[in-house]
Amino acid sequence: MKTPNFYASGPIDRASHLRTDQDWISEQLASPNSVLIPLWKMQSLVLEGRQPVGARVPLSRGLLFGADTVVFLGLLDGVAHFAADFSGYEDPPLEEHGRFADMRGLGQRLGHEDGSLLVYARGAIQWHARHQFCGTCGAKTESRDAGHMRQCTNPECKAQIFPRIDPAVIMLVHDGGDRVVLGRQKVWPPGQQSVLAGFVEQGESLEDAVAREVFEEVGLTITDIHYHSSQPWPFPSSIMLGYTALATSEEMNVNFDEMDDAGWFTRQQVLDAQNTPDASALRLPRADSISRRLISDWANQ
Ligand SMILES: [Zn+2]
Repeated sequence: MKTPNFYASGPIDRASHLRTDQDWISEQLASPNSVLIPLWKMQSLVLEGRQPVGARVPLSRGLLFGADTVVFLGLLDGVAHFAADFSGYEDPPLEEHGRFADMRGLGQRLGHEDGSLLVYARGAIQWHARHQFCGTCGAKTESRDAGHMRQCTNPECKAQIFPRIDPAVIMLVHDGGDRVVLGRQKVWPPGQQSVLAGFVEQGESLEDAVAREVFEEVGLTITDIHYHSSQPWPFPSSIMLGYTALATSEEMNVNFDEMDDAGWFTRQQVLDAQNTPDASALRLPRADSISRRLISDWANQ
């Protein structure tokens, strides 16, 4: 079996059947054995070191009073783990337990288990922060099911709102031989290149979205669209769906409104960038991303 993508397939048991068991959840929230995964202004609490680790804070009543939102994440080794949002504090709290840092910068330095646990907690808390009001009637919403649903407080509405995940396709386009399409965005550092990507639109299959995005960005038509793997990317709420596809022609028509540039790169160029990153003019995507995984799997096949 393939190694899971970073952030995916963590060891937590989500134990979803327990979310609606209010007595059990209350018991866990009163137990000093339970663990909090704290967030503050969308930053995660970590212990710095050669390899940073996610801080696990023993739960206490006092701590819970300061939390805006608490979400039951699941069980790790039988222990209940909760994400808790401390964004109400002006200054970072819990300093005796670690330092708050943004997962977007930190992710690739964490171990796999911590990476998956901390992005799950971050995604859950950010969803609550962005869904405080009902999209149907505008009234306040309240957390339900241990943080896995929100419900509108307007008795005429009572709309139930479930966590939203936005699908995005990301695709490696190749020529069937030794060349691959890479492109870059204007804001990226010099030399940085990646595979193409974009959001899925209403009424599209994933394959439709892959073909449309490739045509919009570089003017290539493609065939042989094959699923590769997926990766949660909760920055704020995406899932990246990875594909490979074969270009049916080689002449590109790059859309410079969307991209800084794009072009064909050889397998050797990619391998050089992978093996000697400091000596190469080509910079590959960060190590924890599915884009890097798609490029490496293709280059090493
Ligand atoms: Zn409503």
